[in-house]
Formats: sequence, structure tokens, C-alpha cells
Amino acid sequence: SKAKLFDEKTDTRVTFKDVAGLEGAKEEIEEIVEFLKNPEKYTSIGGKIPKGALLVGPPGTGKTLLAKAVAGEAKVPFFSLSGSDFVEMFVGVGASRVRDLFKQAKEKSPAIIFIDEIDAIGRARGKSNMSGSNDERENTLNQLLTEMDGFGTNTNVIVLAATNRAEILDKALMRAGRFDRQIYVDLPDVRERKQIFEVHLRSIKKVDDLDVDFLAKQTPGFSGADIANVCNEAALTAARKNKKMVDKQDFLDAVDRIVGGLEKKNKIISPEE
Ligand code: ATP
Repeated sequence: SKAKLFDEKTDTRVTFKDVAGLEGAKEEIEEIVEFLKNPEKYTSIGGKIPKGALLVGPPGTGKTLLAKAVAGEAKVPFFSLSGSDFVEMFVGVGASRVRDLFKQAKEKSPAIIFIDEIDAIGRARGKSNMSGSNDERENTLNQLLTEMDGFGTNTNVIVLAATNRAEILDKALMRAGRFDRQIYVDLPDVRERKQIFEVHLRSIKKVDDLDVDFLAKQTPGFSGADIANVCNEAALTAARKNKKMVDKQDFLDAVDRIVGGLEKKNKIISPEE
């Protein structure tokens, strides 16, 4: 059904406080919060509010989180869909879903539309693909472009889209008046990993002397999602052992398990590359 593909989340609990690190990205995206909160300030002087921005970066680095935080900070509804939902869709369905999504967002404006994995619909047109579903994908992409061109700058709907492969996107998406801003969301460095740990440790009962610097140093290459995973695994391990507090060893065991998982994933992926 329609409702499944995109759900409006008026619960605006995610804010910038939940997003650790990513200072540059947050600073850039803060401007979008400003546009949503106070559009007249910009339009009355003749400015055109951007319609879209692309969040670019590796998986699990907080792109979805950041988009939700924009909606949360501006206190506007969040409509989302994922490009992968459009894979294997019947002819005409993708385009009509896009049309519905924009219609709903406009009715509730100001609003954020978030399109995760936009590369699934936004790959450059006319390039071969094996699935044979190119036409439908192109229809969906064309509908998206039409919608973005169709709403005026005073509609106050801003479309954020996420991808980890900006280079394969159709250039038409990046044209002025569409996704003409790119915001980079990178893997965290050691300092940022510490900050991400601190966010995810808030809700965990842990020993007082837990060395968070040490954990940050033990996790090079980890994304924010990996770190969230470490914290949760550590809590589950401690509980399984009937501990009252999560301790250093629980965290280290969780790090090892996740490193193991990442290595396995790389082994599976690398022969294809
Ligand atoms: P994907 O490209 O795989 O969709 P993403 O970049 O959208 O990933 P999110 O879905 O936002 O990543 O991140 C997954 C989870 O990881 C978040 O819900 C959050 O718990 C945690 N996380 C990721 N990055 C951060 C961060 N910078 N600060 C705090 N938590 C983070």
C-alpha cells in the first residue's frame, strides 16, 4: 500500500544533539533548518531557497540521521522513501509514488522529503543495466525531476537525498534548482568516534572508569552505525552475563565481533571487485 512506502514522522525527536561529529556537514545543513523555519527572511529580499541537497558518504555514517535531525530541529514533518523500494516495480507505479509523495509533502509544508539510496533511481540514464527494468527506473527519475522543477521556491519543501556513489548519478539531478548542493558525510576520525561513543553510551549503564578514548582508538574504520552496534552488543553481552554494568571487556568483545563481521563482509565482496 501507499502508506508503506513513505511514512510521515511528525515525531520530531531526532535533533543535532543526536548527531556526533560531522561538524562541517552539520554547519552546512543548519542553513536548511533556517530556510524551513524562516523562509520569508530569504524570499522577501529576493532569494531563492534551494530545493534539494545531496548527502554523500559511505554507509552508516549518519546521512539518514542528519536528515531526520533537520526535520527535528525545524519541527517539520519528515517524509521518506528509499530508492531501493523502486527496484522491480510495475510500470507506472514508481512515478505515481513519487507524485503522491510530493503531493503529501506539499500539503503539509514546510516539510522535508528524504530519499535514501537515490542512486537506485538516479543512475545516469541510458546506461545499460542487466535487470531490464531501465524504463521504469527512468520514468521514476523523470517524475522526480518534474516534481522538483514543478514546485516553486515558496513551496518550502526541501528534498534531501543520500548516496554513497555520487559519481554514478545522472548529472540532470545536480542541475541548478535540483540537488545543487552536496554535503559530504565522511567516516569519523578518532575524535569523532569518541563523540559518537558518547552519544550511544548515554543510555547504557556502564562502569564509571570506562576509557572512551581507548575505545575510539580501537575502532579505526568504524562508521557511526558500527559504533552504535558495538555499544548495543556490549550491553547485551553484559546482561547475558548478569552484570549490573557494562565494562571494558564487554566493549572489547563487541569490537572484536564487529571487526570479524566487517572482515567477513570484505572477503565476500572483494572477489567480485
Ligand atoms: P546508509 O547509507 O547505510 O543508509 P546512513 O549514512 O544513512 O547509512 P544512518 O542510517 O544515519 O546512516 O546511521 C545508522 C545509525 O548509526 C544511526 O541511527 C545512529 O544510531 C548511528 N550513527 C551513524 N552516524 C552517527 C553519528 N554521526 N552520530 C551518532 N550516531 C550515528
